[in-house]
Amino acid sequence: MTYRVGADLGGTYSKAAVVDQEGRVVARFSEPTPRARAPEACVEGLLTAIRRAADWVEARMGRSPEGYGVSVNSPFEHGDVIHLNNNLPALEGFALRSYLRRRLEAPVVLEWDINAALLGELWAGAASGRRRVVMVSIGTGVAAAISVRGQLLRWVYDQTPGEMGHMVVARDGPVCTCGGRGCWEEMVSSRAVLRIAREIAAGGEFPALRALLDGGEGLTPEAISRLADTGDPGARAVWQEVGEWLGVGVASLAQIFLPDRVVVGGGISLAGEKLLAPCRASVDRHVGDALRGSFDIVPAALGQDSALVGAASLVSESPGGQASR
Ligand SMILES: [Zn+2]
Repeated sequence: MTYRVGADLGGTYSKAAVVDQEGRVVARFSEPTPRARAPEACVEGLLTAIRRAADWVEARMGRSPEGYGVSVNSPFEHGDVIHLNNNLPALEGFALRSYLRRRLEAPVVLEWDINAALLGELWAGAASGRRRVVMVSIGTGVAAAISVRGQLLRWVYDQTPGEMGHMVVARDGPVCTCGGRGCWEEMVSSRAVLRIAREIAAGGEFPALRALLDGGEGLTPEAISRLADTGDPGARAVWQEVGEWLGVGVASLAQIFLPDRVVVGGGISLAGEKLLAPCRASVDRHVGDALRGSFDIVPAALGQDSALVGAASLVSESPGGQASR
């Protein structure tokens, strides 16, 4: 058995996972991400998590991993320099890969997290063996990645076909963090879920949702999901609305990329069928006749591990111990 280490630099937590040769996570390590002014300090938690994973591998294989794949939640240039990071602004312009290589004394490959997530699903998840895949990740933002015959489409920054979370789906819709208006992200991200919940609760006909808004637990997508699971009509209406908007964007991407499967991941996707069932109905209403029924919409098979597994796939481990990338 050979093992690889994939890691993820998140805005709150940095994670590392040991992944076996079948793409299964066999050990995981998590460290808080310091919100520091110096970029080196921001990645200290990431380095600790990676080193703990490396120790795990060394104890079983008798040697350190041959390299590391790292998923980051921002684009970067030349495989190295962080272009922009909304969660960790100190990283902007930082040569992350060079720094990690020096500290770990091993090869490091970076990947944008949405691409890493699709690579993980291609290797060991819902995208495996599929001809054309659209993967959508929904969390604080919305991003999408596209694969054709197992290869990712990469144009902008050599990384993505475009900013698909910012395609416009709602005329005169809410103003987006990007400065645009009516972006898909403003209709389905975590802040969209909360905005839609407030709008539905403001009508006054859903007391349980109203109580959640006013209550001590705080209004979070998770709390709205739990309330919907009890059958509460107000909370269910929130997911119905978000799912419908998800479907509008999926239908648009489907018209462009003609997928045979759409994979939905990210924290908001944990709402599951409450989100995906109205999404599928919305897609069927919006796509053209030629596309209707030509693809399915499924949750990420690796759940919240897609990007970690994809990051691990970037560095191959050979039994003979030769680094390949
Ligand atoms: Zn936008």
